[in-house]
Amino acid sequence: MQVTLIPALSDNYIFLLTDSGQKIAAVVDPAEAKPVLRQLQAIGAKLVAIFNTHHHHDHIGGNRQLIQEFPDVWVYGGAEDEGRIPGQRVFLQEGDRVAFGDRTAEILFIPGHTRAHIAYYFPPASEGEPGDLFCGDTLFAGGCGRLFEGTPAQMVNSLSKLRRLPDSTRVWCAHEYTLKNLQFDLTVDPQNQNLKTRFAQVKASRDRHQSTIPSTIGIEKQTNPFLRWDMPELQAAVNSQDPIQTFARLRGMKDRF
Ligand code: ZN
Ligand code: FE
Repeated sequence: MQVTLIPALSDNYIFLLTDSGQKIAAVVDPAEAKPVLRQLQAIGAKLVAIFNTHHHHDHIGGNRQLIQEFPDVWVYGGAEDEGRIPGQRVFLQEGDRVAFGDRTAEILFIPGHTRAHIAYYFPPASEGEPGDLFCGDTLFAGGCGRLFEGTPAQMVNSLSKLRRLPDSTRVWCAHEYTLKNLQFDLTVDPQNQNLKTRFAQVKASRDRHQSTIPSTIGIEKQTNPFLRWDMPELQAAVNSQDPIQTFARLRGMKDRF
């Protein structure tokens, strides 16, 4: 399975998945249809699946037009998103499996950003290869999504599921927010050497207009404060010893950053 990054709107990423034969494709969170259709035409592939992570417009905006062009396409989303995702035909829950080409995604229910948010996790195709995580607006490179429809406790539980995935897992998040996130992260975790190194790398990439996606679970565990609610230095930074309160205070500070 190949993953192609398609930039969309101001800072979204759409992910086009193609099988090894490149004849069928799936798309994750099509913010808009046009760039997806252009890419499909370029490789001569048929769209068989739309994988939506949640109902926000910058993740489903292309659904209708893609369905018009490919009436047989299967539209997947979270069960709790029923009625909020155009064309949804499959209502997924934690532990469900979805096949694409020779790979199968496992569904993780990760509410917090929205109450229905799901992730698609493709375990490694063979030993020594990385798995692929499509996590929408829940986990970002250096950050996490805002809590629009969930509580800090829910989000910590959801992020804990992602944190348990293998370190090598590639994290395909839906926005290019990395530089701004890391600028905030340095204010709460200024002694973190891995974070400083990462900031320099990301700054250089952005100066060259390069994408910072995908990240990996391993990198996020080392540098992302929103996966580090149990680290003493972060608890000290927000004056708490409680993991959920630590997370909540970090999230509140980021909201005002
Ligand atoms: Zn969103
Ligand atoms: Fe979004």
